[in-house]
Amino acid sequence: MRRAEKKITDQALVDLVIRNSLVCRIAMCDGGMPYIVPLSFGYENGHIYLHSARDGEKIDILKRNPRVCFEFETDCEALPAEQACAFTMRYRSVIGYGTASFIEDAPEKIRAVQTIMSHYTTRDFTFLESDVDKIVVIRIDITEISGKQSGFRNAAGS
Ligand SMILES: Cc1cc2nc3c(=O)[nH]c(=O)nc-3n(C[C@H](O)[C@H](O)[C@H](O)COP(=O)(O)OP(=O)(O)OC[C@H]3O[C@@H](n4cnc5c(N)ncnc54)[C@H](O)[C@@H]3O)c2cc1C
Repeated sequence: MRRAEKKITDQALVDLVIRNSLVCRIAMCDGGMPYIVPLSFGYENGHIYLHSARDGEKIDILKRNPRVCFEFETDCEALPAEQACAFTMRYRSVIGYGTASFIEDAPEKIRAVQTIMSHYTTRDFTFLESDVDKIVVIRIDITEISGKQSGFRNAAGS
């Protein structure tokens, strides 16, 4: 990272940025063509979980090339200033790389969907195999990850 002082070095804070994010952006590569989609997600034990309809562009691309780049951000706020060049953005963000795989095992699919639900609600939901049969559930195994923060008074972000 060019601005080393902005790097989040504490893995617990990287995890917190992910846990506090609403959306996961997944970038894929189809030959030389990039494609990015915003998705709901779950995060557990260093894996990102996604769910989707069975068909569509992202599924087609992931079947051809499972390598992905992902991004999360939180605590974003524009910080105005008198001078245009002094305007800045406060943020915490995470970018990483990984490999997507399709979960086929029904009990594992159900656990993954529950992980996604638990990112958004404390309510418990019961899923049947027939519920998850209709959808595709994707696990991203993370190979590289980095966190960055800007606009906070110190590295702890206070
Ligand atoms: C906050 C948020 C959460 C979401 N959560 C999920 C989720 O959990 N699971 C899920 O499957 N989808 C989710 N979506 C929708 C997702 O972004 C895609 O639209 C959807 O997955 C279909 O993708 P696809 O590649 O199959 O598109 P297709 O239906 O195959 O369409 C392909 C084309 O449609 C256009 N397109 C596709 N998606 C979008 C988009 N979001 N905005 C503008 N244009 C688009 C692009 O031009 C693309 O080339 C979410 C979207 C948002 C904004």
